[in-house]
Amino acid sequence: ASAVEPSDGGGTGGGVAAAMRTIRVGGFGGGRPTLAELRKLNEPGPDEQLGGEKKAFGSDKASGKGLRSGASCLEVLQKRSVLVAVRARPLNDREKAEKSSECLTFQDVTGLTLHRDDEREHKFAFDCVMSQDIGQREVYDRTARPLLHKVLEGYNGCLFAYGQTGSGKTFTMQGAGDQPGIIPTLCKELFNEIQESAATKHITVVCSVLEIYNEKVKDLSIESGDDLTIREDSSAGGRGIHVEGLTEVQVKSGQEVLDCIAKAQQRRAVGKTNMNEHSSRSHSVVTLRIGACDCDDVDGATLTVSKLHLIDLAGSERQKATGATGDRLKEGAQINLSLSALGNVINALTEKTGSGRHVPYRDSKLTRLLQDSLGGNSYTVIICNVSPAKINAEETLSSLRFAERAKKIENKAVVNRDPKGERILELLQENKALRAKVARLEAHIDRLEMYYDK
Ligand code: ADP
Ligand code: MG
Repeated sequence: ASAVEPSDGGGTGGGVAAAMRTIRVGGFGGGRPTLAELRKLNEPGPDEQLGGEKKAFGSDKASGKGLRSGASCLEVLQKRSVLVAVRARPLNDREKAEKSSECLTFQDVTGLTLHRDDEREHKFAFDCVMSQDIGQREVYDRTARPLLHKVLEGYNGCLFAYGQTGSGKTFTMQGAGDQPGIIPTLCKELFNEIQESAATKHITVVCSVLEIYNEKVKDLSIESGDDLTIREDSSAGGRGIHVEGLTEVQVKSGQEVLDCIAKAQQRRAVGKTNMNEHSSRSHSVVTLRIGACDCDDVDGATLTVSKLHLIDLAGSERQKATGATGDRLKEGAQINLSLSALGNVINALTEKTGSGRHVPYRDSKLTRLLQDSLGGNSYTVIICNVSPAKINAEETLSSLRFAERAKKIENKAVVNRDPKGERILELLQENKALRAKVARLEAHIDRLEMYYDK
């Protein structure tokens, strides 16, 4: 920075020099600086700007596969607070055996066309489309990674996979074999971040796992807790929508989260003759509650608490009229209840009606739990999983229509901080900015006095 240095000007004889002392301002080549030069010296520094820009999202290389970049997905999420992505899986063995041809083509990074033999084609646009060539990490970078970035800033987040059974929801969320899905990758990255920022930030994580089955909320972290109640605490700085009595496990590493989930999955499977069938009929919800606080903050004014839901939804296929009787039929009706309620909530949210619109969150456990995430205080990422096979074209079309509707949801995400803490933090920031301003103006006055004193 160019400093103002009093110095002997001219280098002529001592006494005269003292009398004619001028100030040389660095870079001005001696003499009195112009007003413009002085003004430039007096520019406000970064400490005087309130709420400086947050750390930028790391860039990722374009894949050359017609994929939107992760940074650009973050931009969409920040701007719209909802990001809707579509992922098609490869043809499976059954589809290959039936010699099914494919019904999807991809255009650019957002376009998708569904082709049906008998009809005109259906064109769609989403925030990000991912063909069968797209690997797990690439999916993570465009969906969960931007979301985690916002969650670490103190916002709520929700990511869910929607689609018919067998479309790749569990593969996307959990992964298989040596292809870890979003949940394991996110856990690893989350704790990497925690470690990297350990010098300045203190971050704690608690994990809970539940499922919604037959319109009952079941805590999967303990043996009991089969029918929990969802409540709302809307007081300032309160917990918002939460499940009463749900077990929360404090976790210190990504592995601990995964162990917690694995144990929950075991409990989920107990007494089930067909686990695949059960999992396709229930909604599985992993929730991380993340508390973050600056290390040097004694008042806890910087404390933020955000919730991140990671959800593997029940299969969205229409229940076939045949074959379902008794309990099975009821189960089907209940799954449809939660999923059709989800559809209704999204319809209500996206219909252009006046202010007094009613959104039927209370019609199902799923929509009640997701109330914050749909039209509320959250950043939300929806991954629509689809089969590319022509034999599944009807289901794929209905999933894509759901996703298209969901794109119109508007959320209003705010950082989750106690209002008192919020105010203290504002004042501390203002105080810091004012101190910096005072210091700068004092320096400026000194500089001026050097001219006018003599
Ligand atoms: P869902 O949970 O939607 O019912 P799954 O995730 O269980 O579907 O996927 C069904 C099958 O397809 C699984 O065997 C899974 O490993 C496989 N699969 C799904 N998506 C992909 C993909 N993108 N790449 C490779 N295999 C996949
Ligand atoms: Mg599944």
